[in-house]
Amino acid sequence: MGESLATQFLSADLETACPACGYLMWVRYSEIVAQTAVTCPCCYTQIWLVDETGSAQNAGDIVQQQIAQALKGIFR
Ligand SMILES: [Zn+2]
Repeated sequence: MGESLATQFLSADLETACPACGYLMWVRYSEIVAQTAVTCPCCYTQIWLVDETGSAQNAGDIVQQQIAQALKGIFR
């Protein structure tokens, strides 16, 4: 159950606009956390998904912590 929670979070889509042409596209949280690059399907600009504030990374950490807490409760 905990694992599916993390999986759900990481497979969640996030709407983002291309900085070059403003084309709206969807990226996955897992791609942001991994800081991979995506290519805009409109202008073919390569966009690096840099999580400047670390919010996606932090949210991922929080999910991991909550899962760890939940598992502690189960296996007491
Ligand atoms: Zn573009």
